[in-house]
Amino acid sequence: MKDILKDLRPARVWHWFGEIMQIPRPSKHEERISAYLVKWGKDHGLETKSDKLGNVLIRKPATKGYEKSPMVCLQAHMDMVCEKNSNKKFDFMKDAIQPVLDGEWLTADGTTLGADDGIGVATILAILEDKKIQHPALEALITVDEETGLTGANGLSKTWLKSEILLNFDDEDEGEYCIGCAGGIDTTVEMDYKLVPAVKGHKAFRLHVSGLKGGHSGDDINRGRGCANKLINRILWEGTNKHSMRMATIDGGNLRNAIAREAEAVVTVPEDKVRAFKAMVTKMSKAMIFEFRSTEPDLVFELRDVDMPKKVIDKETQEKLVNVLYACAHGVLAMSREIENFVETSTNLASIKMAPGKAGGVIHIATSQRSSVESAKMAAAAKIESTFRLAGCRVKHSDGYPGWTPNPDSRVLKVGVAVYKKMYGKEPVVRAIHAGLECGLIGEKYPNMDMISYGPTLRGVHSPDERIEIKTVEMFWNQTLEILKKLK
Ligand SMILES: [Zn+2]
Repeated sequence: MKDILKDLRPARVWHWFGEIMQIPRPSKHEERISAYLVKWGKDHGLETKSDKLGNVLIRKPATKGYEKSPMVCLQAHMDMVCEKNSNKKFDFMKDAIQPVLDGEWLTADGTTLGADDGIGVATILAILEDKKIQHPALEALITVDEETGLTGANGLSKTWLKSEILLNFDDEDEGEYCIGCAGGIDTTVEMDYKLVPAVKGHKAFRLHVSGLKGGHSGDDINRGRGCANKLINRILWEGTNKHSMRMATIDGGNLRNAIAREAEAVVTVPEDKVRAFKAMVTKMSKAMIFEFRSTEPDLVFELRDVDMPKKVIDKETQEKLVNVLYACAHGVLAMSREIENFVETSTNLASIKMAPGKAGGVIHIATSQRSSVESAKMAAAAKIESTFRLAGCRVKHSDGYPGWTPNPDSRVLKVGVAVYKKMYGKEPVVRAIHAGLECGLIGEKYPNMDMISYGPTLRGVHSPDERIEIKTVEMFWNQTLEILKKLK
C-alpha cells in the first residue's frame, strides 16, 4: 500500500497519511492514535502533552527571525467516520485502511478513507518535523471525537493554548476559507394525549408524504426543501377543522439533524364526509406539489384505505397538535447582516413520534435551532419553546454548543486571501457554514483567537465514497507554508 502513496507529492504529507491509515481511529476510540501522536511528538524532541480526553498538544519553537511573532495553532481532529460498503469485510477497530488510486483522486477500498481529517493531521506532522520551513512558534492541537459530538474541542482546557491565531485544517473545498459556523441547540417537546374509542360511522385512511430530499438540517436548510412534518400537517389541520377528521397516529421525520423526508398519519373521517375529504386531500396535494415543483420534483402524497383503528387521540389534544405544528417555525429565521447569502439563524422541525401507553401516551416532538450568533440561537430556542408552551406542552433544551461568529476583518484571513491570490491568481471564496465546527468551541474558550478553516478538496465524506483530490493537497501544503511565512 505504501507504493500507491510513494509517488504522491508532497512526499512527507503522504508518508504520514500512510502511517495514520494503519492506526484504527474511530470516533470515541482514539486511544491508539492519541498515544501514537504523543510518542511521535516526544520522539521528535518536541514539547508534547495530552489531556484526559486524549486531545494532543505539541509545541515547536519559532524559527530564526520569528521569535517575536504571535504563536500559531495548527488544528485538526484525529478521529474518523467509519462507514463501509455492506459487502466489505472490514473491522475499523483492527484493520488498516487500504488506499486506492482513482485517476486524480485517492479513495479507499470499500471504506471511508479518513482524509477527513487524517490529511490535516498528516500535514501538521509534516510541518512539525520539517527543519527548513519558516514559521512563528507553533502549537499543534489534534483533537478527539470531532465527528460524534465535538467532545474533544468541548472538553479542551481554557488554559492550554498560548496561540493568538488558529489554522483549522478540516474544510473540504480547496480555494475557500471558512470564517464562521453555527452553534446549535435542541428543543424537545412532550405533549400528553388520551386514547378514546374511535367514532362509529367513520372510515379510516393512511395519509403518507414521501419523496422529499431531506438533507442536513444546517447545510441544506436554505435550499427550499419541503419538511414532511409541515406538509402533512397542512392536510391534517384542514381535515380537523373542516371534515370532522380524527387522528389515530402520527409519525414523521427521524434524525434530529436531518430535514424530515417522510411523514404519515392514520386518520378517520365520517362516511358522509369521505368524498369531500378525499377531494380536499387531492386538491391540497396538487397545490403543494406545485409549490415545491422546482426543489422537490419527487414529492408524493398517498391516501389509502386502512382498517378502522380501535382508538383515536382525544379531540382536544388533536386540535392543539395540528395548531401548534402549524405555528411552529421551520426553516431560515434570519440571514446574516454581514455576509451575503449566509444563513444566520434557522430551526428544524425534525420529528414527531408517539409513545403510546394503554389509555394514552406522549407525543414527542424534536426540533433543533442553529445560529452563528449566540444570542440569536437562544432567541430561536425561546421562540420554539414559547410556541409549544402556548399549547400546554412540556419543553426542554439541550446544553447546545456555541457558534463561531464571522469576522470579515480578521488579520489571518487577510493574510490567507493575499497568499492565495498571489499563488493561484484568483480570489479565494470566503464563506461561513451553517453547521457546527470545532472552531466554535475553541473560540468560546479562547475569545480572542483569530481563526480560519481551510483544506484540500474532499468529496463523499462520511461515506465509503470519500475521496481526496490529490493535486489540492500540494496546493494546500504550499499555501499553508506561505501563510506561516507571512505571519511574521
Ligand atoms: Zn472533519
